[in-house]
Amino acid sequence: MKSFELRFEEGAGPAWMAGRVATVFGEAGSIEGQSVAWSRESGAKTSVVAEVGGQLRCAFDARAALEVLRTESYREPAKPVTRFLPFHYHKVPGVLRIKIGQALAAMEKPGFPAWPIDPSGDALRWLLGERGGEWPGGKKFALVLSHDVDTADGMQFAPRLLDIEARHGVPAVYSLVTSTYAIEKKFLRDVLAAGGEIAWHSDLHDNRIAFEDEPGIRCRIESARGFLEEFDVRGFRSPSLCRTPTLLRVAAERFTWDSSIPDTGPGGGCASVQPFLVGSMLEVPLTLPMDADLVFRRRDPKTWPDAWMEKARFIRDVGGCAVLCTHPETHFSGHRAAWEAYDEFLKRVKELDPWICVPRAIAARTKEAA
Ligand SMILES: [Zn+2]
Repeated sequence: MKSFELRFEEGAGPAWMAGRVATVFGEAGSIEGQSVAWSRESGAKTSVVAEVGGQLRCAFDARAALEVLRTESYREPAKPVTRFLPFHYHKVPGVLRIKIGQALAAMEKPGFPAWPIDPSGDALRWLLGERGGEWPGGKKFALVLSHDVDTADGMQFAPRLLDIEARHGVPAVYSLVTSTYAIEKKFLRDVLAAGGEIAWHSDLHDNRIAFEDEPGIRCRIESARGFLEEFDVRGFRSPSLCRTPTLLRVAAERFTWDSSIPDTGPGGGCASVQPFLVGSMLEVPLTLPMDADLVFRRRDPKTWPDAWMEKARFIRDVGGCAVLCTHPETHFSGHRAAWEAYDEFLKRVKELDPWICVPRAIAARTKEAA
């Protein structure tokens, strides 16, 4: 798919785009008027956004370009090789899986979307007049704390994260896999009592649900019906963030929100830190670096709060929604250094004054506004 790089003129565009580049999928002509943004695709510097009679005019279809990002149609759905293993890939020890993840991360080439920040979708939203930053209580941005409990090991250590949240008085959403380990129902009730939310992380963490046909996906959702009803589950996150348009379409029949699309990687992203609707379902992009991504990039847990804060400041400036995802598993966030990093982040992020909420509250608000 054709794309070009867009840069704002100095002093034009939002402050958070200063020194940043947006990738726009589509083709641009050129435009007359007071230049606001430019591209150099045809060699010479060409104005692609201009102010004409007090209005912004684009030399490309900004709405279509935003849709390409939100549907991730610029790429083929990433299909993890783990789908083809004859055994469940969690049978490979966590330490070894981390080594494999680190080797893959080291081979990654810089590309689109840029990590950890790619402002492309938000630059397009700005051009379309969507400003963001209007959250309850006059807050500038929202913050969602989420945890994916992938295994029995994660179930065992999940209460440690809830303890940290209780000390800070903040709610969180825990996503559970329903057919692989014994679910501690008392823990789920404690999460709800603390103002948190329970989401579904599929029946099996086999990375295959996204690639089933529609009846296959429906059947897997149906298999969890008892759990979904008992804990009033409204949200979904696909294992390993494997996603396809089919999966999101079918998920929308049962769930009011999904959080399976990151703004940037792994395997693509919508390049925006702002939730958006996919049909009737609210997509809440995962926007802070995941613990797994930091582990694969060999970042010491001592540096995690800095990585999260840097991105949180950008999201505050854009007026979007910061979504953190960590895993209580021993090899990710189930150890002392990771607990300290999480505790430190919660302490520091409060200074930015976010609306700390669970996704169902954002979905309810979006529905009200619609
Ligand atoms: Zn998972």
